[in-house]
Amino acid sequence: LIALTHVSKSFQSADGVPRAVLEDVDFALAEGEIVALLGKSGSGKSTLLRIIAGLIPADAGGARYRGREIVGPASGIAMVFQSFALFPWLTVQQNVELGLEAQGVAPDERTQRADAMLELIGLSGFGGALPRELSGGMRQRVGIARALVTDPDVLLMDEAFSALDVLTGETLRNDILELWEEKRIPTRGILVVSHNIQEAVMMADRIIVLSSSPGRISNEIRIDLQRPRDPDSAEVRGLID
Ligand code: ATP
Ligand code: MG
Repeated sequence: LIALTHVSKSFQSADGVPRAVLEDVDFALAEGEIVALLGKSGSGKSTLLRIIAGLIPADAGGARYRGREIVGPASGIAMVFQSFALFPWLTVQQNVELGLEAQGVAPDERTQRADAMLELIGLSGFGGALPRELSGGMRQRVGIARALVTDPDVLLMDEAFSALDVLTGETLRNDILELWEEKRIPTRGILVVSHNIQEAVMMADRIIVLSSSPGRISNEIRIDLQRPRDPDSAEVRGLID
């Protein structure tokens, strides 16, 4: 689905000197896969995700989605943010419909699809609420609904659970895994950015570690566990230790 080849990215630092954030990164997300990208703060995880989402260009190297070069936000790729990124003055329903509006979907169909998505994500009855009236977990459900309502082929999640308490994050994660495993969403690949190895182990088929300064792919772990995974099983503990 996604292929990055020799991707490099630098940012100008305060003293005007360019600083390499990603260097020569090769990465692929295959059809049917959930991949977790782990790395310390500042290692370039969000930068990598933003390149895939078409929000920023790479300085060098190639970024492709289904064989086509990524030149800007593509309609098959949706992203969920750590900070939810909801518009506070819009209702839940309006926030969810935004993704469809951008794609030129007609108002009637927007309403219908947003209703169905709110139901699927466990928010039916909350369409008229404002984000501030909801708990953190429910707000992130809105963020996820806004991404999923577009029927994305590829879902990118940037620390989507880390602003939530452990139990809320785990519940939401399991709900998404259930939608994925039961094929109730058409999404064909998920890339999860995290700095929580437990979370990565519980979600991913493959874990990639980005090392810092500049970010390079330093390690890759393929997991051969069956779902549902037990975090206390010897296999999972073996991976985490
Ligand atoms: P975290 O775990 O804290 O979210 P991260 O791995 O997602 O970190 P990035 O957000 O990709 O890291 O940032 C990597 C580096 O690039 C950081 O040093 C950051 O300050 C720098 N950086 C990111 N975006 C920009 C920008 N637009 N301009 C300048 N520097 C930037
Ligand atoms: Mg980040």
